[in-house]
Amino acid sequence: MDSVPALELPPYRPPSEAASVLVRVTRGCAWNRCRFCGMYKDLRFSIRGLEEIEADLAMLRAAWPEAHSVFLGDSDSLVHPQLPAIVRAVRRTFPEAERITSYARLHTLWRRPAEFLQELREAGLTRIHAGLESGSQVVLEQVAKGIEPERAQGAVQKALAAGFDLSLYVLSGLGGSTAWEAHARETAAVLAAVPPHFLRLRTLVLLPGTPLFDAWQAGEFEPADPLTRLRETQLLLTELNARLNGLPCTPPAAGEESHARAGRSAPTRHREPADPASREIEICSDHFSNYIWANGEMIYGGINGFLPGDVELILAALDAAIVAARNSHQVQDPASLARAGRMTELYRAGAL
Ligand code: SF4
Repeated sequence: MDSVPALELPPYRPPSEAASVLVRVTRGCAWNRCRFCGMYKDLRFSIRGLEEIEADLAMLRAAWPEAHSVFLGDSDSLVHPQLPAIVRAVRRTFPEAERITSYARLHTLWRRPAEFLQELREAGLTRIHAGLESGSQVVLEQVAKGIEPERAQGAVQKALAAGFDLSLYVLSGLGGSTAWEAHARETAAVLAAVPPHFLRLRTLVLLPGTPLFDAWQAGEFEPADPLTRLRETQLLLTELNARLNGLPCTPPAAGEESHARAGRSAPTRHREPADPASREIEICSDHFSNYIWANGEMIYGGINGFLPGDVELILAALDAAIVAARNSHQVQDPASLARAGRMTELYRAGAL
């Protein structure tokens, strides 16, 4: 009896691709050395053949004939030498798809020729999700990201020049308690130099089995507490806004909030995404890892909106959370719960 071919799916996708058809192009991560990341540590990297992928596409089409978006995984589809042919096959299989998106490593974007990126764009790849994580040389080195800020900036520039929508991830808390200011300031500088369409903030959660978790246990890395993380986000967005508006960077003095309006809740703006030709950046940070509770009440649920248009609302929400965190004794976030060994609570809440 002939065996039925098995459909392979990528194990991870961005939250914004929850409704997308998932197509596995590679397995694992070819780099796999970032010290904070546990996504593919147990998986040997490999590239899937075009025929295998086409067989998957036929099954996916049969299962989801109404699909409006397609996401390509795993961590960095751009390493696949046949990616333009794969994207064309996706486009033929799902001609109605409004977008085809992929994770990509910035280093891969940086080293790929502009012609390759252009071919991908013309084949139908529309959006790239990439982890900047930080714009700080010190932080990037500490976490073995494998790229310098200048090259990361060059990679973003190339993706934008090829016409992709770009979604960049920044990891709050990645500088720990000592490098948070450099992390915030230097990340703002990179983002302002080459503004992406979307900025997605996530917060570092130390996971057992990762080198950064081991560094924390050995006393070599001190995590940022929730209050420090809020101040880091405030500084990042204040500096980013100033740079986008051509203003001098004037970070708030330590211990002060320049926009304090206690009691304001986090803004949620619902309007059309920024015009790609403008310098507006859509901030999306309502991820569970960003949440903060004080005395059992949620005081911060992340922020959403556009920079520079929504800056006052965004900074007001951060100020309110900072005031609440300062005035509370028991402040917790998913990162501190995980460090306390309360991982099951996070799984139950869908954080991991
Ligand atoms: S963060 Fe991305 S590039 Fe780094 S090891 Fe994880 S999947 Fe690979």
